[in-house]
Amino acid sequence: MKLRLHFVVDPMGWLCIGIVFGIWFYNTLFVPKLVLLPHYHEGHIPWALVVWYYIASALCVAALFRASLADPGRLPVDPHIPHSEREHWELCNKCNLMRPRRSHHCSRCGHCVRRMDHHCPWINNCVGEDNHWLFLQLCFYAQVLSLFTLVLDFCQYYYFQPLTKLDQEKFTTRHELALLRVSALMGVVMFGGMTSLFYTQLTGILTDMTTIEKMSQFSNEVYGAKRSWQWALAEVCGTRWKLLWFIPLRSRQPLQAGHHLRSHV
Ligand SMILES: [Zn+2]
Ligand SMILES: [Zn+2]
Repeated sequence: MKLRLHFVVDPMGWLCIGIVFGIWFYNTLFVPKLVLLPHYHEGHIPWALVVWYYIASALCVAALFRASLADPGRLPVDPHIPHSEREHWELCNKCNLMRPRRSHHCSRCGHCVRRMDHHCPWINNCVGEDNHWLFLQLCFYAQVLSLFTLVLDFCQYYYFQPLTKLDQEKFTTRHELALLRVSALMGVVMFGGMTSLFYTQLTGILTDMTTIEKMSQFSNEVYGAKRSWQWALAEVCGTRWKLLWFIPLRSRQPLQAGHHLRSHV
């Protein structure tokens, strides 16, 4: 697997991704420490629940870093333009480089990106043709992890049996209520935000429209290529193997040449 790293220099983006990472770190540290591990040690829950939480957490942070550090589809300085595709290329008036249709110039990153969806400060990167699948994975896993966290926070108070072997002097025992309230607040915000973002991204992919195209002056035109949801997702994820759609640690190969050229605008 060959991973090409892409790093955007933007202090505001670093702050945003730092907040997202902080939320992940807080919950991955405190939810097992306060809820899962003590209940497992007292025999209230099976070990599989602890393992599944760590798996969801690992997949979420892997998708975050892959989406942030993957090349979104930056155009090379001197691109090779096949003769048959020349009519679909145009000159960017900001960076003076040739780019295929549906590309967009990102002012935060300072370059053009193929089939750019939008620039996301929360991953400090553009979302374009080559990392859109990773962004979709991130929305999915963040949704799963925040829901898992909310359910565990809820169960801690209303469902699980009381813990008997707690060290009352420990910091986490003394501040358990406050720590879990912060976790539940983060869970509500993340679950609400990620669910709406995942739904918007998914409908954009299924109707073959980027966020930029949706917001552009062409928004009144009729969009939506006739294609199945399986084909739309396979094209974005670069594979028809559905299991691989959920794996962040792999590279993406475009299913067909010229995907970025198909245009409705
Ligand atoms: Zn440009
Ligand atoms: Zn950008």
